[in-house]
Amino acid sequence: MKLNNIGEFGFIGRFESRFNQMIQKQDKGIGDDCAILSINETEAHVVSTDLLIEDIHFLTDHISPEELGYKSLAVNLSDIAAMGARPLYSFLSIGIPKNTDVAYLDRFMNGYYELSAKYNCPLMGGDTTQSADRLVINVGVIGIGTKADLKLRSAAREGDIICVSGNLGDSAGGLKCLLSKTNETPYALHLINKHHKPEPRINEGLWLGKQSAVHAMMDISDGISSDLKHILKASQKAAQIDLDKIPTSEELKRAATENQWDINALATGGGEDYELLFTLKEEAFPGIQKAYLLEFGKTVQPIGRIVEGKNEISWFQEGKPLKTSNSGYDHFA
Ligand code: ADP
Ligand code: MG
Repeated sequence: MKLNNIGEFGFIGRFESRFNQMIQKQDKGIGDDCAILSINETEAHVVSTDLLIEDIHFLTDHISPEELGYKSLAVNLSDIAAMGARPLYSFLSIGIPKNTDVAYLDRFMNGYYELSAKYNCPLMGGDTTQSADRLVINVGVIGIGTKADLKLRSAAREGDIICVSGNLGDSAGGLKCLLSKTNETPYALHLINKHHKPEPRINEGLWLGKQSAVHAMMDISDGISSDLKHILKASQKAAQIDLDKIPTSEELKRAATENQWDINALATGGGEDYELLFTLKEEAFPGIQKAYLLEFGKTVQPIGRIVEGKNEISWFQEGKPLKTSNSGYDHFA
């Protein structure tokens, strides 16, 4: 059997429970956006780490070094946001081909610094080594949160409204523009910028963390059709999603029309939007919607509902059930 038969999550599933049995009950290991390390009765550290490899996660011909530095940290901060926590410190381990220009690395660190400064999250250490021919970047982030506010993937309840914090599919559209070299129009530039410089939803995550009506939460790194399954599996529930309600940008709509892309496939199966996906007690929805608009000047987007069932998503369009399913990104599938 090869790795591509079982996929990324099949691999993790082979050892996850052995290690999870070793940990104390106030902590949480493999299985959520971050590990939770209890500090005391009320507070916990949260820890996330992510790996980016040249030619798998990024193409150095396309992304600027500043954007790459920014994005390397952003994808980790997004996991901290997904817990409803605040980032504290980061660590950077990097494998660098030896003919790399120092100017390139300086620019990379400028991008990394820009996002660190935005959230007052200093780089505290790491490791630097030579790599054969590709840049390899691993970032780890430590955050802190109030235990009662931390949001797990396992907390979705029947009847919850499923919401997202912003437009989906822009990043996947940006990647398509890059690969098809249709990157000159203003809409393409918008989409490419979303792909190269995602914004972690730290403030939104902290705010949502404080709302007891918000039950489960995670960030969208692989596309909702894949990511929502993690919430469903952890919560032992099913979901109904209304494709018409999935928010997409005007730029993505234009690009999809002009290039004949399947916008639903991009919005549900495309990764790297780094918006938040969360479930919310139905009665609380109007109040949360109003308060969130006041706080952030934008709305949360309801896209469906949690129902009883086993780890399945039913898709609806114009009120009718759809047969097709879009699968999210699995690194080895
Ligand atoms: P995310 O997309 O939020 O970064 P993933 O879906 O990549 O999370 O990973 C799911 C869970 O599996 C996370 O809790 C992560 O820490 C854990 N995980 C992934 N790869 C490994 C690994 N090689 N060893 C231990 N845990 C892992
Ligand atoms: Mg995540």
